[in-house]
Amino acid sequence: MTETLPPPTQSGSVSKEGTSEANPGARDLLRDVATSLELLVLGLALLTATCGGMIYRFFEFNVLMLTPAGWLLVLLGLWAVRVVVLTPARLALRRQMKALAGVFVAAVVVHVADAAYLHLTLGKPEADWAGPLPRREFPAATRGLTYPGANIILLSIDTLRADHLGCYGYRGDISPHIDAFASEALRFARTYAPSATTLPSHASMLTSLYPGTHKAEVERSIPLAQEVTTLAEVLASAGYRTAAIVDDGQLEPIWGLDQGFETYAVSPQEGFRTILPQALERLETLKQSKFFLFLHTYDVHTPYRPTLEDLARFFAHYQGAFTPPITDDMARALSGQYVRADLNDIRFIEACYDACIRWTDTQVGLLLTRLHELGLDKNTIVIVTADHGEGFNEHGKVASHTYNLYDELLRVPLLVRFPDGALAGSVFDYNVSLVDLMPSLLLLLGLPYDVPMEGRDILPLLRGSAPPADEPVFAQSICGNDRFPNQRAYEVGPYKFIQEYLTWRERLSAWVGRSRAFYTLGGRRLFDTDPDYDESRNLLTIDYRALDALPVAQWLEDRMYEVVREGRRFRFPAAQPVELTPEEHERMRGLGYIQPARLKEEKGRR
Ligand SMILES: [Zn+2]
Repeated sequence: MTETLPPPTQSGSVSKEGTSEANPGARDLLRDVATSLELLVLGLALLTATCGGMIYRFFEFNVLMLTPAGWLLVLLGLWAVRVVVLTPARLALRRQMKALAGVFVAAVVVHVADAAYLHLTLGKPEADWAGPLPRREFPAATRGLTYPGANIILLSIDTLRADHLGCYGYRGDISPHIDAFASEALRFARTYAPSATTLPSHASMLTSLYPGTHKAEVERSIPLAQEVTTLAEVLASAGYRTAAIVDDGQLEPIWGLDQGFETYAVSPQEGFRTILPQALERLETLKQSKFFLFLHTYDVHTPYRPTLEDLARFFAHYQGAFTPPITDDMARALSGQYVRADLNDIRFIEACYDACIRWTDTQVGLLLTRLHELGLDKNTIVIVTADHGEGFNEHGKVASHTYNLYDELLRVPLLVRFPDGALAGSVFDYNVSLVDLMPSLLLLLGLPYDVPMEGRDILPLLRGSAPPADEPVFAQSICGNDRFPNQRAYEVGPYKFIQEYLTWRERLSAWVGRSRAFYTLGGRRLFDTDPDYDESRNLLTIDYRALDALPVAQWLEDRMYEVVREGRRFRFPAAQPVELTPEEHERMRGLGYIQPARLKEEKGRR
């Protein structure tokens, strides 16, 4: 490293007027040395710019002690020295060049010292900040918590964010039936979706693989690969009857989530209006044997179609420009991309969402009542959850999701009611992810499994055989376009780290940003969610506070890549892209997915 530093004292002495002319042999030698150094440094700059990130990610070798920017700085310094020392020129110019070279040399020295300091402090911050996490009491089950042969009903209420349910602390009488169910169930207080998009998140829920591993993503037209083993496939092979009744859009069979289901019925985006009658009918036949029933509904997804009665509960006298149904185009207009959002309008839109939750809650109540009447609640594990949440201007978008990995989109409800009422009303106040569902469920059923899964089995925690602790949670956006940049999020304890990566500029700045001097670049964000629940204060902003946050961010980023590397072990091939018919394309667009060219142009003009 240090051999690349142009020695300032030497450059000062040889640049003296007349010295170089008086000693042409020394000048030639200097020129050769300078050329060699420049080539070496240029090579290192190119190496770090092209594959420095990869070297770091795969081999954990921190070649980025100097970033591409750092190496280029060295190169510029060398060039400046060459001009001063080796180029005959007027005295004034040479003086200027001398000053310039001095600045570059100083910058290089500072940069190297800074990078060296970062290198020395890497890996040490854990002891400073993580420490032992606080132990909280969780009532461990006294019974075995094992239900071989139990039926499974998994209900995914698409777009239902956790904190809009009464049992998760929401104001008002929004979800009486789900709240009553929660009092009979185990409530997971901190459940994270591994993605903020419908297909990847459901694929993760049903395979226990993170989005980057299973690769299913509508924005890239990639369905779930057939090579992946789903929960339904495992259960079917264990003798379960398997049935799914879902809303269309991202759960249509073309996207591959139907794997393992004996019957897979698709509702034309009518939600529980058609799904509930179908589900009740299906239960009549399924109850003859052990079964897995997967239900999914878009009832609280845009377009919001609240009943007037439900809407009046949450917003009585609105006089603004919006009238239900609240479509995705309206939401986009309110999301700060095209017009400035009005607070009253936002609250009204949110009230429409709440009214939809209220209506859906009633339907869930009807389903649960019917289960009781059929006597199925005695031998059925009932799970209520969601694939992601919804934003209401917390981070600039309204009635929308997909676009980021903030907690309003990742925190989802998870309620599990056991057949014997075990752990009824208990709260599990530790991090879990939707990828944990499949391994835990299979163990709960006593089913041996040997399929690749990235989730963890949380059963030992529930049984009290392992002390509960806050596990890190990982989430990923793999949309990969300008509107929805690829992102990764990693959260442990109070700290949450988010990194964007997509364009060459972001990638370059991500590599550059491995150094302390440039760490705030690269689309990195760090939040301390303990005081900053809304994730509104990025600790990696360009000010001196960033220096305190930096070791934490580095630690989180390194751990995050461990998860990414772990997923690469499985090496599932991405499935062939799906070709959508114009009708399917339009349905996706109506749900807010797949950016039409027209809107891209509008955005570009702004
Ligand atoms: Zn969804």
